[in-house]
Amino acid sequence: MKKAEMKPYKQDLLAKRARLRGDVSAMADAALNKNRSEAGGSPSSMPIHMADIGSDNYEQEFTLTLMQTEEGTLGAIEAALEKIEDGVFGECDECGGQISKARLQAIPYAPLCIKCAQKLEQS
Ligand SMILES: [Zn+2]
Repeated sequence: MKKAEMKPYKQDLLAKRARLRGDVSAMADAALNKNRSEAGGSPSSMPIHMADIGSDNYEQEFTLTLMQTEEGTLGAIEAALEKIEDGVFGECDECGGQISKARLQAIPYAPLCIKCAQKLEQS
């Protein structure tokens, strides 16, 4: 794929990455506010150490947990952006074949062609 062809995918990937990161920090903020307003009656389900640590640590830990959840997508987006920089965007990580444009339009951060993705799912 030519660099010029990669451009719209890069835009899309950057937008998705920004949104994903924004979501993570927005969720962390919301959770922090929720945590503060419910500080009076701390839920028994909350582990003791969570109640004892400072809000900075809490935020960090919470974000890390979320990042782990979103890690797959964010990691794939980062990898796809790197592939654009290297000029190999659109190539399957597994077989080196071209990932179809329809697939890339649906999932611009897809690391595998549809055949390899299906093979991986079945194994
Ligand atoms: Zn493949």
